[in-house]
Amino acid sequence: MMDSSASCVASLYVHVPFCAQKCAYCAFYSEASSGELVNRYVAALICEMEIVADDLKPKTTFFGGGTPSLLNLRQWEQILRAMEKLNLLGADEFTVECNPATVSSDKANLFRDFGVNRVSMGVQSLDEKLLDRLGRIHSREMVFKSFDILRRAGFDNLNLDLMFAIPAQTMDIWRDTLNEAVAMQSEHLSSYEVIYEDDTPLFAQMKAGEFDVDENLACEMYDELVLRATAAGFRQYEVANFARSQSTVHSPQSTPGGRLAGDCGLRTGDIPAFACRHNANYWRGGSFYGLGPSATSYVRGVRTKNWPNTQLYCEQLENGRRAIESTEELPPLKRAGETAAFGLRMNAGWPFAEFQHVTGFDLRQDWGSEMTQLTERGWASRDANSFQLTPQGLRFADSAAELFLR
Ligand code: SF4
Repeated sequence: MMDSSASCVASLYVHVPFCAQKCAYCAFYSEASSGELVNRYVAALICEMEIVADDLKPKTTFFGGGTPSLLNLRQWEQILRAMEKLNLLGADEFTVECNPATVSSDKANLFRDFGVNRVSMGVQSLDEKLLDRLGRIHSREMVFKSFDILRRAGFDNLNLDLMFAIPAQTMDIWRDTLNEAVAMQSEHLSSYEVIYEDDTPLFAQMKAGEFDVDENLACEMYDELVLRATAAGFRQYEVANFARSQSTVHSPQSTPGGRLAGDCGLRTGDIPAFACRHNANYWRGGSFYGLGPSATSYVRGVRTKNWPNTQLYCEQLENGRRAIESTEELPPLKRAGETAAFGLRMNAGWPFAEFQHVTGFDLRQDWGSEMTQLTERGWASRDANSFQLTPQGLRFADSAAELFLR
């Protein structure tokens, strides 16, 4: 008998569009939560899950936002019970993003009971003044306390998310945050440079000349990140992502072999055992369903985007249809170019055979001159089997990747 789940989409993202308040730098779609709208969103999300459930057998699930941990226990239980009924639980990797101000042991235990096995904590900084400046709702103490709660609930796969090149952040402040963060012994570390997005308070402050952007300092901070993370036992596997090969806590789940079950096209050894499989699937051009307002899906070459409007999202689903704003069927070469560009963000780069398997195109034939250009610049290296960015190239991954877009 055929296993119908074999052809199902294996990756699920859920966008939770609520935050306690808007951070100064944030351009993600989210809004301040009001009790009634959150309840309406939960019901609409469950309807959307029902619509796609037959085509979905998640090996990786990721609840991001917004602030997923802002939902209360009752709302979370409703979602997780619906997922159970629809056969959407049981992913090898099930991540929930949490703000340190909204973690409780009841929530952590509920997550564990329903198979959540990874938590990504938005820390950004461990400097109180910078947290204020960014408009974060949590303090540094809350970070340590929440981390402890999650460990006590049995989580052996935790990510800390940091930010660098924040206005007024000196190298000393960055070093202190890095030192304290690595001392917490999480299994995963991600860290991004501040981006000045249009229509954010931080962008307006920059335009008004309230601070200067120091690109040299940003580069030095990135180098420091790679140095400190590596010295602390993390392995870099993507421009901004670092993971361990083993958990720092002991539990039956901590065996690295158990972490490699997800299928993201990478071989054992290409990425550390505690790398985020869900994100690796994006970077390798895999299909995924994205549910919730503003979420993007990419299923068998077709990209759809949900309306970035929670009211509208709820209305559409209350009328029994997905709230899709746009649909785009990508021409194969354009799709392959995007896949090449994303995949190069990973240290493993692209084995030629894997790229051909995923996209149907041969990197050597269709992007030969671009590869030569990057290799000659010292940004990439190439052998008979694969092509990857060098440490210098990874610093400029966005510019390098642009060359591959068609
Ligand atoms: S908590 Fe996250 S999603 Fe919400 S406003 Fe801040 S950065 Fe944006």
